[in-house]
Amino acid sequence: MSEHTTTVAGVAVDTRHWIGGERVASAGTFTDVSPVDGAVLGEIARGTAAEAAAAVAAAKAAFPGWAATPREERARLLHAVADGVERRLEELAVVETADNGALLRSHRRGVMPRVAHNFRFFADWLLRLGHEDFDTRGHTNHVSWDPAGPCVLITPWNAPLMLATWKVAPALAAGNTVVLKPAEWSPLTASLLAEVTAEAGLPAGVLNVVQGYGSEIGDALTSHPDVRRISFTGSVPTARRIAASAAVNLTPLSLELGGKSPLLVFADADLDLAVDLAVEQYDNAGQVCLAATRLLVEETVAEEFTRRFVERAARLVQGDPRDEATDIGPTVHPRQLEKIDGFVRRALKAGARAVIGGHPRDGRYYAPTLLTDVAQDAEIVQEEVFGPVLTLQAFGTEEEAVRLANDTRFGLAATVATGDPERARRVTARLVAGTVWVNCFFVRDLQAPFGGSRHSGVGREGGTWSFDFYCDVKNTVTSPKGWNGHG
Ligand code: NAD
Repeated sequence: MSEHTTTVAGVAVDTRHWIGGERVASAGTFTDVSPVDGAVLGEIARGTAAEAAAAVAAAKAAFPGWAATPREERARLLHAVADGVERRLEELAVVETADNGALLRSHRRGVMPRVAHNFRFFADWLLRLGHEDFDTRGHTNHVSWDPAGPCVLITPWNAPLMLATWKVAPALAAGNTVVLKPAEWSPLTASLLAEVTAEAGLPAGVLNVVQGYGSEIGDALTSHPDVRRISFTGSVPTARRIAASAAVNLTPLSLELGGKSPLLVFADADLDLAVDLAVEQYDNAGQVCLAATRLLVEETVAEEFTRRFVERAARLVQGDPRDEATDIGPTVHPRQLEKIDGFVRRALKAGARAVIGGHPRDGRYYAPTLLTDVAQDAEIVQEEVFGPVLTLQAFGTEEEAVRLANDTRFGLAATVATGDPERARRVTARLVAGTVWVNCFFVRDLQAPFGGSRHSGVGREGGTWSFDFYCDVKNTVTSPKGWNGHG
């Protein structure tokens, strides 16, 4: 085992970049620590502008060959990657849990199967992507989906491999080459993905993985003139910086950002269902962009809703994410724990009341928290906490519910609990959100458009929308006249 390999939960993981089909070290490293027990997982290559340039050069060199590879062959290789993910599912699951602290049972049963599905889905969708032909005064228009070129994909830590492959799969399917930069708090499964793609037979340079700290490597990637697309999932401040950097070359961007989504509970809703939906917002210790962290409850049922919520939340088990019985694991990083606690302390100081929680536990966890007595313009109602912290506000009328729901700068998702289909239709039509769920939550289909409005993002990915973004769509017009120009 080399000095560049670390063993995590029994799995050997290379800590270097993956550039042009080879492992590349950096002069510096950063320490990756597990949120599960504070153990050091490894010293990870700390990339700089030099490695960014090398990775883009490798992606550029591999592009013509990959773009010219017949669709059927690209699809076959992506299915082979999915096979590799399924073969190494247990390894990926245990490493991801050690690295970001999310539940092992979710990784085994939900997340890693979805990673494989990301590759299968976009491989199959590629083969269904029809070229379109139509006539203009006898001239033929032929619309084709051409690969765009090297893509830079930058991802966060809350669902590392799932979010990375949701971008990697369509980008590769479209015939592009990729430079993936995972988050510094969860760098490991991206390194394993590089191995899986190599084992599947993906040519060198088609997928490159670089590690590193935010802008230290990020700026060189996002301002690079040879990069044709940038897809980013992360926070609003980073998105602003990336957009400014990409502006130099007018590189097209897809931005999937934060949220402060509402759950609207009307008095006519099945209250037990509504409570289940609300408690579900603590999943992944609240580190979910789509989480409906603002509970808006009709005042006639607010007291009963709160009573049942507290009863239900008390049954949640918080602890080691490797235990089957655990519902809520640790927070990803001590800095994130501090950030969450800062939000809650400021809210309490401003007059909020903690119905449950309101404090960290054992230095690694944040107690599931519900805050009431919060003003609409309070920081805790307006800003994304990214932890297990919900607020509850009561509303009097449907009009008020919609007004409160839409009154933040975000627009990622919204959930509506109601027993009245007419109300559901009226309310959902007025909500500003990329996704609205009615009497359900987190039901996701890869063919659906996904993205946010306002500060929750720019653009949509999923199904055809992914290919819209990752392709240069071209229209070719051919004259009806003969090839000698005389008809
Ligand atoms: P972040 O913005 O701090 O970091 C995200 C990624 O950007 C990391 O890989 C980081 O290294 C990189 N980065 C930082 N500075 C950079 C720069 N100047 N140039 C290039 N890359 C840079 O976000 P985070 O804390 O890792 O993730 C949490 C955020 O992500 C939350 O706001 C959450 O809502 C959002 N998120 C959104 C979605 C979605 O689909 N809409 C999904 C998951 C998470």
